[in-house]
Amino acid sequence: MRKDFLPFSRPSLSESDILAVNEVLRSGWITTGPKNSQFEADICTYCGCDGAVALSSATAGMHLLLMALNIGQGDEVITPSMTWVSTVNLIVLMGAKPVFADIDKDSMLTSAELIEPLITDRTRLIIPVDFAGAAVDMEPLRTLAASRSIALVDDAAHAIGTQYNGEKTGCRGTAIFSFHPIKNITSGEGGIVCSDDAELLRTIRTLRFHGLGVDAHDRQQQGRNPQAEVLVPGFKYNMTDISAVLGLAQLARLESFIEKRTLLADRYRELLAEVDEILPLQVPAVTTRHSWNLFVVRLDTDRVRLTRDQFMEELKKRNIGTGLHFRAVHRQKYYLQNMPVAPGTLPATEWNSDRICSLPLFPDMTIDDVDSVVSAIKEVLS
Ligand SMILES: *Cc1c(COP(=O)(O)O)cnc(C)c1O
Repeated sequence: MRKDFLPFSRPSLSESDILAVNEVLRSGWITTGPKNSQFEADICTYCGCDGAVALSSATAGMHLLLMALNIGQGDEVITPSMTWVSTVNLIVLMGAKPVFADIDKDSMLTSAELIEPLITDRTRLIIPVDFAGAAVDMEPLRTLAASRSIALVDDAAHAIGTQYNGEKTGCRGTAIFSFHPIKNITSGEGGIVCSDDAELLRTIRTLRFHGLGVDAHDRQQQGRNPQAEVLVPGFKYNMTDISAVLGLAQLARLESFIEKRTLLADRYRELLAEVDEILPLQVPAVTTRHSWNLFVVRLDTDRVRLTRDQFMEELKKRNIGTGLHFRAVHRQKYYLQNMPVAPGTLPATEWNSDRICSLPLFPDMTIDDVDSVVSAIKEVLS
């Protein structure tokens, strides 16, 4: 058994990342300023997108996006139930109705096929998820959304660096990335909305800072721009330069992170191929590059006497941390009580929700760490 505890995720923070943050702390300008602008520009260059607005979280980005698209009472928004709660909470908080799409049983990705039957006259927006860092099949979704005049936003919180049919996630349309510490790069907390819709980004930029018509660059060059006026009531969702500089330093390391994650994921896949009770996710062919934010496996509960929760507990006793991404949103207390979904509507979501767990995967892990996880799994199952 391992001597030390292996968490399921841990950010890789180098000495140079720390020095970069130090430099901002000593500079006299720590909130939104030049590092924020630089981060937005570098993300655009990396992803090949036209524009980007950095924010305090991806959740903030989703909130402002729903505001900018005027989503509210009477509107329906289609998104998988197998997602992080933030998206669905915000749809509800905006007064709109979340409509849950199912996922493919083995890739855990949603699709145009699963979403199309859910479209009604009230559908205003579709939010697919690039689950675990795999790419959702966007092209059929783009065609579907365009043909019905419905907005489409890629929840790419897991998927910076992922490639879909050779194109980088976020390079077209509108996508949201997260920089929470468990994502592929971190800014402490943070998120960004990338889009080729300049008007949409202008609205988000205004809403992120009280609805004042100034951006970070204005404020940097003109102090706090005391003459700025409220154009529309807005929020306080800007990204600080302390965060942005960490994001910049991490972005420069992203390629090496993904290479390492791929190496570790390949090792898991090789070793787990001979463990019949553990079912890793299948990677669809359209994912021409997986960014491996999460390594999600399913416990085949038909073959073992353990429940998933017991399995996670047994691994913890052996110093192996695991995560749960995600407990299906429609199975959480508020949604069960307020928006019950008819039984059998989301079969693949429910099947996975009961069986998934995320194994340790982060850039500073070693191949030996992967081997120790698989040994512990074999011991638990024996
Ligand atoms: C992490 C995550 C978010 C939210 O990101 P934050 O930056 O924490 O707000 C949204 N969607 C998915 C699928 C996520 O995993």
